[in-house]
Amino acid sequence: MTTPRTGADLIHSMHATEGAGFEVRRPFPTSQLSMVDPFLLLDHMGPQDWAPGEAQGAPDHPHRGFETVSYILQGAFEHKDSAGNAGRIGPGAVQWMTAGAGVVHSEMPAKEIQTDGGIMEGFQIWVNLPAAEKMKPPQYQEILASKIPEVTVDDGRTLVRVIAGSFNGNEPAVSTHTPIAYWHVLLGTDGSFSGDLPHDWNAMVYVIHGAVTAGGVDADESDLVILAPDGESVEIVARGSQPADVLVLAGLPIREQVARYGPFVMNTREEIIEAFEDYQSGKMGQIAF
Ligand code: MN
Repeated sequence: MTTPRTGADLIHSMHATEGAGFEVRRPFPTSQLSMVDPFLLLDHMGPQDWAPGEAQGAPDHPHRGFETVSYILQGAFEHKDSAGNAGRIGPGAVQWMTAGAGVVHSEMPAKEIQTDGGIMEGFQIWVNLPAAEKMKPPQYQEILASKIPEVTVDDGRTLVRVIAGSFNGNEPAVSTHTPIAYWHVLLGTDGSFSGDLPHDWNAMVYVIHGAVTAGGVDADESDLVILAPDGESVEIVARGSQPADVLVLAGLPIREQVARYGPFVMNTREEIIEAFEDYQSGKMGQIAF
C-alpha cells in the first residue's frame, strides 16, 4: 500500500480574457500562485457558445523557452506555426508544442466554428523547460483522440485518459522533456481513482465538472487542489451522487530561476529582453502559408 497524499491547498480559479477575447478560468498564474513547478499556467477555456462570426482565438503570436499543451473537450482548434507545422485538434485530441528557441503560432477556432458558431472548450497548460533545453529547435506533437490510451478502473466506474506519464503500466501518448503526468480522469457516480505519483513530484487535481474529494479536500468545479509531498499516490472520489471529471497534473520540479513576461519564459531578465529583440527582428520567423 502506498501512502496517499493529502491536499495542502485549495485554489479557486480566477476569470480572465485571453487571445483576441475568449474566456478562461485560471487557477494559476495569479498574484497568489505564480506557478506549480514545472507548470507555469493552467487555463480552462470555455465552454463558450459562439454565435456565427463571433468566435475568437489567439492569432499570430510568439513563444520561447517552454511548451504549450492544448487539450480539446468540445469544438476544434486549428494551429499553424512558423516552423511549418499545421494541424487541427478536435474533441479528445492533444497538441504538445515545444516552443524552444522560438516559434510564432496561431491558435484559432476551426473555420466552421468561426463561420457557423458553436461551443469551444479545452485546456491549455504551459510546461517549463530546463535552461539547457530552452533554446532547442521547436517541436510539434499532435495526438489524435484515438491514440490516447484509455484505462478503466474501479469496476468500470472510472475512465482514465493517459495523455502523459504512465498510469498502471499504460504508456502515455506523448513524450515529455521532463517527467510529467497528465491524466484526464472521468469518475462515474460514486466513482473513485487512485494513481501512483513519485513523492518528489509536484502534483495537483483540477475539477472540470462535478464535485470531488481529492487528497481528503472537498473541491468543486473550477477548483484546484494542490497535493502535499507526503505520500506516493493521489486518491480522488466523486461526491454529490453525480459523475465528475478532473485533470491530474504532476511533474518533477525543475527548480531553476524563472523570468517570465507575456509569451516568453526564461531564466533571467536579460534573456527576456533578448527574446523580445529576437522576436521583433524576425528571428522567430513568421507564418508563411
Ligand atoms: Mn500560444
